[in-house]
Amino acid sequence: MDNKFSHFYQRSEDQRRAIIADAAHLDETELQLLKYRAETGDAKALIENYVTAYQLPEGVAVNLTLNGRTVVVPMVTEEPSVIAAASNGAKLASDAGGVTATVESRLLMGQIVLQNVSVFASVDDWVALHRQQLLDVAAAAHPSLIARGGGPRRLRVRNLGDGFVSIDLFVDVQAAMGANMMNTMLEAVAGVVQSQLHPNTLFSILSNAADQSLATATVSIPVNHLATSQMAGKTVADRISAASQVAQLDPYRAVTHNKGIMNGVDAVVLAMGNDWRAIESAAHAYAVTNGQYRGLSQWQVTDDQLVGTLTLPLPVGTAGGATRVLPVAQVNQRMAQISDVSQLMAIVVAVGLVQNLAALKALVTTGIQQGHMKMQLRSLAMSVGAETPAEISAVTTSLTGKKDPSEAAAKRALQEFRMEKDD
Ligand code: NDP
Repeated sequence: MDNKFSHFYQRSEDQRRAIIADAAHLDETELQLLKYRAETGDAKALIENYVTAYQLPEGVAVNLTLNGRTVVVPMVTEEPSVIAAASNGAKLASDAGGVTATVESRLLMGQIVLQNVSVFASVDDWVALHRQQLLDVAAAAHPSLIARGGGPRRLRVRNLGDGFVSIDLFVDVQAAMGANMMNTMLEAVAGVVQSQLHPNTLFSILSNAADQSLATATVSIPVNHLATSQMAGKTVADRISAASQVAQLDPYRAVTHNKGIMNGVDAVVLAMGNDWRAIESAAHAYAVTNGQYRGLSQWQVTDDQLVGTLTLPLPVGTAGGATRVLPVAQVNQRMAQISDVSQLMAIVVAVGLVQNLAALKALVTTGIQQGHMKMQLRSLAMSVGAETPAEISAVTTSLTGKKDPSEAAAKRALQEFRMEKDD
């Protein structure tokens, strides 16, 4: 059988694109777009079967004062309004003295899972007895980490039931996210466990739960700063607090509440070349810590202040992974003046908090759509071909206030503007 995808990974970029174009009936313009973008792409060898560089827009959130320092925050996102909202929330926070963020801990955990264990205590006792030997084996598997001041810190054994036992290793991974380092160490330790204790190790891998890598942001805003033309500041603060309470009570609301937080978090994590799936999975697992999925942030009114806190597991890195091969990620680190990984954690959690503040304030006052629609209209204008700021502005102005602005109406508005300009 003729399989054009056979040995696809061994083909040149051009050959791969040609095969895909043929299989998917791409026209010449589409093929050229893939090629054109590929030419400016970074780190082609980072992934497999490279065909092009997919672009997402990057902007910066401004106005953030974090731990007394002004920070410009690079954000990569495809969603309109996210960066505007982050800047908005950051301004509210900065006018009140800014966000404070602390890093409580920074350890990564990994697990070696054994199966068919008949007596849990036999594993528990053996690990206790061989604790130092196992930590030494882990350290020897990645010695450069020790030189940097990091390395394996402790072990724990958990009975998972049904004959499964997890031997958990906690490692200080320094400035890296640490997934590969951890996996290397775990496999070395698993080799010893397998040969000396229990022949049946099932797998060894880090845990993305990352609850040993926590950062917390807090902000306190005088309620009168929250006043709008329609609503007193105290009312806005009380409504934000009530909305936060609903996210503690109702998982349906909590998911949306947290999505709003992750709008900011993911955008920064992505800009910094980090693994945002790891951050997403850790955050959502953390949201269900007490058995019910809840909002990750909480807002309360105390003494005429709206006080917000957000704690997130943030297994991010400023070294290793894609951070060292994506040049823009490195520029972004410099843009945000990040000199150590705790600062990155602080920025990410602070952005999550101010993003949430802006979203909640809009939600309980004007409603979320007013700001969103403006940006959606911009997207609509661009999707029908508006290119210059004047064209985008003409189309959005023409569509503003329309109940259901359609693509056809946007096209018409663009045509009219261009015709008027030509006259
Ligand atoms: P790397 O494999 O790149 O290891 C970190 C590297 O950073 C090491 O080579 C280390 O050098 C170097 N480094 C330089 N400076 C420092 C420093 N100050 N502190 C620590 N390391 C430093 O990355 P990670 O181990 O961080 O793994 C992250 C990658 O793993 C991500 O791409 C992630 O997507 C992926 N991954 C994620 C998984 C998951 O989440 N489940 C599973 C598997 C992979 P040296 O060697 O000299 O120590």
